[in-house]
Amino acid sequence: MASITHPVTSDYRGRIAPSPTGYLHVGHARTFWTAYERARAAGGAMVFRMEDLDAQRSRDEFAEAAMEDLRWLGIRWQEGPDVGGRCGPYYQSRRRMIYIDVWRRLLRGGFIYPCKCSRRDLAAATSAPHEDLGSNAEMLDDEPVYPGTCRPAEYVATTGVEILEGINWRFRVPDGELISFWDQYLGRVNYVAGRDFGDFLVWRRDGVPSYQLACVADDAAMRITEVVRGADLLKSTARQILLNRALGFEDPKWYHCPLVVDHNGQRLAKRHDSLSLRTLRQQGLTPMNILAAEMPRAV
Ligand code: GLU
Repeated sequence: MASITHPVTSDYRGRIAPSPTGYLHVGHARTFWTAYERARAAGGAMVFRMEDLDAQRSRDEFAEAAMEDLRWLGIRWQEGPDVGGRCGPYYQSRRRMIYIDVWRRLLRGGFIYPCKCSRRDLAAATSAPHEDLGSNAEMLDDEPVYPGTCRPAEYVATTGVEILEGINWRFRVPDGELISFWDQYLGRVNYVAGRDFGDFLVWRRDGVPSYQLACVADDAAMRITEVVRGADLLKSTARQILLNRALGFEDPKWYHCPLVVDHNGQRLAKRHDSLSLRTLRQQGLTPMNILAAEMPRAV
């Protein structure tokens, strides 16, 4: 398929950042389309970043399918895994040195501490912690507030100990501080650190950076000026604002898209195979059907 991109006439830089852990669904299509439309309207560049840090769940097959499905939908990008660009590599699995550097800066600044808490806390850490806003189980998938078991009494700036395996690292949030930001779609959004979210993981004991760390490192390194993503990541935005502040990175603008829910009011997940772009394409739906307001019925 021809891959003609729109001309870039401004400094706006947007991104789409799928995790190749399954086939993309209608919700992804709508969010990524919004990101693309906003970049195009601003005369800005679109960056495609493959968020394949989770080696257990990421598969090449899904990465290829994500690019293919989004191209089929009509989305084009100036930079990405398949086309390269000045801010590459565009696979997170190949950007480890960048993440280690950011982790080291957090360590030296006294913003993070080692944590020995068990595996159970880790489940949500490499993948983006999507909140389940579609049911009454609010925060179902979000990283739980850390009880503070390993949190040292004071900030400690460490230079000597650099352990990246076998121990978790957490960011100490400023308890009680209001984290307030302007969302281009939702308006003012407020969270309280330590109440709405707690000390979150920046590095996992299996040697992998968390989604939060990798995301801010990449958005800064790729000079992203506006982040467009689903409303289930609003609390991640609050966490990322704290990381940006600690690292001296400028915040991008934020735009959180409303979530697509199925007929039971549940947020779509990659397990909803019947609503995957693959399946819908096979059933003969067009990009227009998929982007239209009416939700296709799950079969
Ligand atoms: N890789 C993340 C996801 O699939 C995207 C997170 C983001 O846009 O920051 O949910």
